[in-house]
This record gives sequence, structure tokens and C-alpha cells, in this order.
Amino acid sequence: MAKIFCVANQKGGVGKTTTAVNLAAGLAQLKQRVLLVDLDPQGNATMGAGINKSTLTSSIYEVLLGMADVATARVRSENGGFDVLPANRELAGAEVEMVELEQRETRLKQALRLVADDYDFMLIDCPPALSMLTLNGLCAAHGVIIPMQCEYYALEGLSDLVNTIKKVHAKLNPDLKIIGLLRVMFDTRMTLSQQVSAQLESHFGDKVFKTIIPRNVRLAEAPSYGMPGVTFDPSSKGAQAYIAFGAEMVQRVSQQMAEPPRAAVQA
Ligand code: ATP
Ligand code: MG
Repeated sequence: MAKIFCVANQKGGVGKTTTAVNLAAGLAQLKQRVLLVDLDPQGNATMGAGINKSTLTSSIYEVLLGMADVATARVRSENGGFDVLPANRELAGAEVEMVELEQRETRLKQALRLVADDYDFMLIDCPPALSMLTLNGLCAAHGVIIPMQCEYYALEGLSDLVNTIKKVHAKLNPDLKIIGLLRVMFDTRMTLSQQVSAQLESHFGDKVFKTIIPRNVRLAEAPSYGMPGVTFDPSSKGAQAYIAFGAEMVQRVSQQMAEPPRAAVQA
């Protein structure tokens, strides 16, 4: 059964997609079977995985509206070594069209359930909003990864996101937890980065991932080649950091979400 994680932060441009795509590639390198779910009409995760979003025969849009299943809509990222449930701008319409449908918050969850045994991990790249799409992501997931830039305003939106996660946990998805905060685009030369980073550690303790993703131009260049940074330039500092993050995730997941031993289940 796949473990499902949302990469979420309603702030725009904080590194959600870069994290989702590179974590997918990092986990694939660790021989994990991964499905990257693009839940953003911008389709950046789709493009970053090397898939042309304008020539899709079906996408997550059809899946959410019940017109296709994941097994039909998924495509392989040959560069990344993982599968992608792709998105394009059509998905923006789903938000409105889903309003009419029953159980609209759990449509992604139901769809992903059918392929759960095909994967070890599913990573959902959320749009920069606390919208119906993000709600579908949070309802489908076991946990949330929150990428954050260590800058002055970084903490401002965090309480809205944490409150949303708490509400979803209480009302819709008791499995949901915050797996961790990931410091991204980190600039070691900036005193402010160090200060905010220390603040995060003192507030959130071991909810802050040990791995820090540095600001690295190779990560920003990779999408224009349709490749995750991890495969585009494996020796770059950014790629190395995401590979280390993949290993930290595997370790954290086995610790935090350890399934009870088989004997205990039978007892
Ligand atoms: P949106 O909210 O629009 O979906 P996002 O949170 O998904 O944005 P990204 O698209 O991942 O953010 O990143 C925003 C920009 O910052 C992109 O141009 C990306 O290439 C760049 N970027 C992300 N992480 C890094 C990094 N560690 N070093 C350098 N550039 C980065
Ligand atoms: Mg994005």
C-alpha cells in the first residue's frame, strides 16, 4: 500500500513543485515505486517530469470528474523513473464542476485507492491556494510536507495552513498529519536565513526535516530540459540535497508510520 504525501503551502513560488518532482526522482533512485500526482492547473510538475501537458489524452481533470481512471491517465516519466498523473489548465475547470458532485472532497482519494498497490509512495503537488483541489489532496494523503523559505514572511501563512490541516484531520481525514517542514532555497550566507531556520527548529522541533535544500541554480534550470534536477545534474548541491531528503523521508516514514507487526494485527 502506497504512503501518500501532499506537498503543500498556499504561498506561491516557495518550492512545492521542485520538491515534489525531485523527491519523486530521489525516491525512484532508492528503488521506490512512485506516482507523482500533479494537482495544479499550472501543470508545472507534469512539465518538470518531462511530459508535454498540451498533448495529454487524459489527465487528472478527467480522473476527478469520473471520466477516466488513474491507470488510464498516468504516464511514465522516463527521465525521472516514476509515473505521473498529469495536469494542465483544464484542471482549473474541475474546481467549479466538482461543486455539483457528491463527496467532492474525497474524489482524488477514491481514485488513488485503485492503484495504491502499484506504488510505495504517491506525492501530490498542490496548487498555491487552500482550494477544493488542495482539500482533495489533503483528504487523500497520510501526511503533509511543507516546503518553506527561511525568510521574514515565511511563518505568516503557516498558521492558516496548519489550521486547515487540523480541520481536515478532525472532520475528513483522521490519518492526516504534518510529516515535516522542509527548508528550501536556503542561503547559508544570509544571517536572516539562519535566524528563521533556528526559529523554526525551536518552534517545531523534530517536525523540521534535518535535510536543508540549498538555493541552487541547477534545480531551477532542470525543468526547461524536462528533467528533475536530481537526474539533470546528479552531482549538484541541489540534487544531492534532494537525494538525501529522499533517504530521510524513507527513514521517517518507516519510523512514524510503521504498520503494526503482522502478529499484532492477527492477535
Ligand atoms: P507555485 O506556488 O507557483 O506552484 P511552487 O511553490 O511550486 O510554485 P516552484 O515552482 O517549485 O515553487 O519554485 C519556484 C521557482 O523557484 C522556480 O523557478 C524554481 O525553479 C525555483 N526554485 C525552487 N527551488 C529552488 C532551489 N532550491 N534553488 C534555486 N531555485 C529554486
Ligand atoms: Mg508549483
